[in-house]
Amino acid sequence: MYTLLVMQVFAILPAAGLGTRMAASQPKQFLELNGLPILIHSLRAFAAIQRVTAIYVAVRPNEIERVKAQVAEYDAKFDFGGRVHVVEGGDNRQESVAHALAALDCDEEDVVLVHDAVRPLIDTATIERTIDAVLEHGAAIVGLPAVDTVKQVERTAHGALITSTIPREFVVLAQTPQGFRCGLLRKAFAEATADGFVGTDEASVVERAGYPVAVVHGSQVNLKITQPGDLPLAEFYLGQRG
Ligand code: C5P
Repeated sequence: MYTLLVMQVFAILPAAGLGTRMAASQPKQFLELNGLPILIHSLRAFAAIQRVTAIYVAVRPNEIERVKAQVAEYDAKFDFGGRVHVVEGGDNRQESVAHALAALDCDEEDVVLVHDAVRPLIDTATIERTIDAVLEHGAAIVGLPAVDTVKQVERTAHGALITSTIPREFVVLAQTPQGFRCGLLRKAFAEATADGFVGTDEASVVERAGYPVAVVHGSQVNLKITQPGDLPLAEFYLGQRG
């Protein structure tokens, strides 16, 4: 008897940050953009992709019930197909992702995408291209070529001092989604935990484990809502999309 093996795609949306740089009454992932919470914009993009089997959102413990209710409300409206699960996040982004990774039931070859909940303008074509790049390379992230000249600096008591200039052609700015074969991501996370390494994105965890990570061309539209001025800019981009 033969068993049909179907590769699955999972998405993890870390949404347990406090968003202190935003200086708003609630974390930025719950602020509204064109009448919809930022997190729901991000969820819609992933739920629109048929080959995404399940989506795990990591939130702070005191927000679990509220987010579950919100997800149920918008599931009915936008047809998430019961694929969204809410799990408890951690003290930093890597811990939040690790909690979600522990909760999902994936095989070695399945694909896991991690996407900042606060990048609500991600488009389905970029997500699809990331999945395809993971299938080809094992690991791939969305990256934006640098348009500014990049300087390496040393922080001193008198401010930053430039130590070198990094040629632009050698630089991309890491965005999300960042996608990986599940077995590879789990192994890299286990190594990072054992060594006490904490990175600011998943690729840095996977790079230090020695795996090559490919880059998929990103766009400045896929901005990370971080500061107050980012909201009107995101609304402008949404308006352009129609
Ligand atoms: O703080 P930063 O902008 O890097 O956050 C990126 C994403 O990671 C956000 O969606 C944020 O909610 C999430 N995060 C998290 N758990 C933390 C800190 C940040 O899920 N403890």
